[in-house]
Amino acid sequence: MTVKTTVQPTARLIEVFSAIQGEGLNVGTRQIFIRFAFCDLRCHFCDSAYTWNAPTTCRVERSPGLRDFEIHLNPVPLPILMQWVERQNLPSLHDSISLTGGEPLLHAAFLKEFLPQVRSLTDLPIYLESGGHRFEQLSMVLPYLDSVGMDLKLPSVSGETLWAEHTKFLQLCWDAHLEVFVKIIIAENTNPDDLQRSGDLVAGVSPDIPVFLQPVTPLPASEQLNETPVLAPAPEKVLMWQALMKQFVAQVRVIPQTHKMLNQL
Ligand code: SF4
Repeated sequence: MTVKTTVQPTARLIEVFSAIQGEGLNVGTRQIFIRFAFCDLRCHFCDSAYTWNAPTTCRVERSPGLRDFEIHLNPVPLPILMQWVERQNLPSLHDSISLTGGEPLLHAAFLKEFLPQVRSLTDLPIYLESGGHRFEQLSMVLPYLDSVGMDLKLPSVSGETLWAEHTKFLQLCWDAHLEVFVKIIIAENTNPDDLQRSGDLVAGVSPDIPVFLQPVTPLPASEQLNETPVLAPAPEKVLMWQALMKQFVAQVRVIPQTHKMLNQL
């Protein structure tokens, strides 16, 4: 006789909380954030290096926005995460659910199960923030997403070179008719050739995809990941680079990390 066993999907999480989105197309909106553990990139400017590995515990806000965190063990079974999201989902409070990290697509198998269920529970749109390189995992969850913020990593700023992966990733989003935008971190040492190549890449998929240039928020000395600190760009460079990108795509907005100005998480 064969005994049937059901493996319950689990995810390694950093935190679940309610906050104001500070970046990109959804800036200013209220979201339920699910921050996943693990990232396979090592961007020089990373402000979430604590997500690179999975901690043994995660923290979960009990009441949306009150920062009354409970500590729970990792990994988290799917039905438990559903309960946490349900608790956050007060009537009319949130505009969407943000999948963030780390790199959420490293949990694609979990997301494939979780996303249809969380959608039918909350009826909230699902927004994915991603490093924009894991296109195979993206295709597994694409039907359950409403919008995607894709990072485009400039080699001169991030230390990562992912042109081919970014092209495939962005094309998949565009072909799926999702709301998609591209976020590019710019710093003092940005190489304009990288920006030119990015403009060309985005326009090659569609010149209608909005691009957000995000001046880097310099890390405090204690959190710097490299010997050479990543510095904010001079104001005149920002103007020059916006003008450069506008030669390729219709919408180029410059927005810093506004959640940091608001002391959000
Ligand atoms: S992709 Fe995001 S989380 Fe990963 S290293 Fe880069 S900035 Fe950090």
